[in-house]
Amino acid sequence: SVRVRIAPSPTGNLHIGTARTAVFNYLFARHHDGKFILRIEDTDLERSRPEYTDNILSGLRWLGLNWDEGPFFQSQRLHLYREAVQKLLDQGLAYRCYTTSEELDALREAQKARNEAPRYDNRHRNLTPEQRAAFEAEGRSSVIRFKIEDGREIGWNDLVRGQMSWRGSDLGGDMVIARASADGIGQPLYNFVVVVDDIDMQITHVIRGEDHIANTAKQILLYEALGAKIPEFSHTPLILNQEGRKLSKRDGVTSISDFQKMGFTAEGLVNYMTLLGWSAPDSTQEIFTLESAAKDFTFERVNKAGAKFDWDKLDWINSQYIHNMPVVQLTDLLIPFWQEAGYSLTDGRERSWLEQLVSLIAASLTRLVDAVPMTKLFFTEGVELSEEGATQLQQEGVKATLQAILTALENQPQLSADTAQDIIKQVVKEQKVKKGLVMRSLRAALTGDVHGPDLIQSWLLLNQISLDKQRLNQAI
Ligand code: GLU
Repeated sequence: SVRVRIAPSPTGNLHIGTARTAVFNYLFARHHDGKFILRIEDTDLERSRPEYTDNILSGLRWLGLNWDEGPFFQSQRLHLYREAVQKLLDQGLAYRCYTTSEELDALREAQKARNEAPRYDNRHRNLTPEQRAAFEAEGRSSVIRFKIEDGREIGWNDLVRGQMSWRGSDLGGDMVIARASADGIGQPLYNFVVVVDDIDMQITHVIRGEDHIANTAKQILLYEALGAKIPEFSHTPLILNQEGRKLSKRDGVTSISDFQKMGFTAEGLVNYMTLLGWSAPDSTQEIFTLESAAKDFTFERVNKAGAKFDWDKLDWINSQYIHNMPVVQLTDLLIPFWQEAGYSLTDGRERSWLEQLVSLIAASLTRLVDAVPMTKLFFTEGVELSEEGATQLQQEGVKATLQAILTALENQPQLSADTAQDIIKQVVKEQKVKKGLVMRSLRAALTGDVHGPDLIQSWLLLNQISLDKQRLNQAI
């Protein structure tokens, strides 16, 4: 049965590229009723940080990409890698190399001068025991290299890219699989530990970004050397910025927690990521849950070309989720944004009031964070007058109209949509003014502006927290 994995390195927050790869792995696993495994690749001790691991785990959970096994931590599995290195040494498939960094630099310089690509020249591949002993006596440290024959043909049928072929000579010479250490085998390196883990975890399909293609060629040789079955490989297209280059930190937001802070919903973001390089069989369909996308997910529908990041499309998808969300759920999602903005959620601004406020603005939201400026007038004492709002309040007859509203309001213990309409009708009659003027003036007095959400509903909300009379008074 299908077993796939996502293997992030905790050297930064959960990146959108890693998350998108996780989405494809998840969809493929669900499509085949397989397992989705999480492995944290924390072998780079200098750059790995526990807070990045936390960010990765909580980001995947937030997106709903729940894993079936793990998280496994490579830092806890060193014994496995050392055993595997020893096995290759014993079989003569790997060897100790004593070349110093100065010697390697000199080699690279010479290759550069001859216009050759840099590669290790395998100079220590066949050392005699005496030569080895001499290097050790000199106090040189060693790395472990895995033999790569120049003439080797390496091929695989990539699930996205089709037939791939490499030659051993393309791979830069015998590869380092473990660093030096005083007691023998030191820190094993990325390409090696990935293979040992993927074998141990019985991964059937390796689905990862196309920046790993050259690694795949090397890793296939390691599978063979370790006597394991070679999995299927699938290299997914990169995410590109507007200029068509790989999306990077320089493009601003790239981590999932940034997108979260910007007010994207988990469902909207996951939906958008699904479409970064994949399309549904009905290519006009753009809104789907993970579970429904999983039904249709195959690699035949994954593009080879890079996927351009499209903010407008992400915004549109996100707004669809917000507009179709139950008010209760949307309120839960907005509360942290209001708290973050420092808005007080007490003094009449209780749950039911908040839900009414959410109903009022939901259809105007694109991102959750839009609710902060949009609802500011409901959370602050005074109003900010826009230019149009100020002009409206200076119109002839406005002050008398507002005074009439205020008087009517004072005789109205409980304001409802009906009584609010009655007050407006009464004022139109009494003051002999047009209804439009009453409405515009009331809006300007209550909200400071001449456009905005439904006026009656806004008034009712302000009335519940006793801000309407205060603002009418101020405007008079
Ligand atoms: N740790 C690697 C990365 O974050 C994983 C690559 C792989 O999936 O093999 O790029």
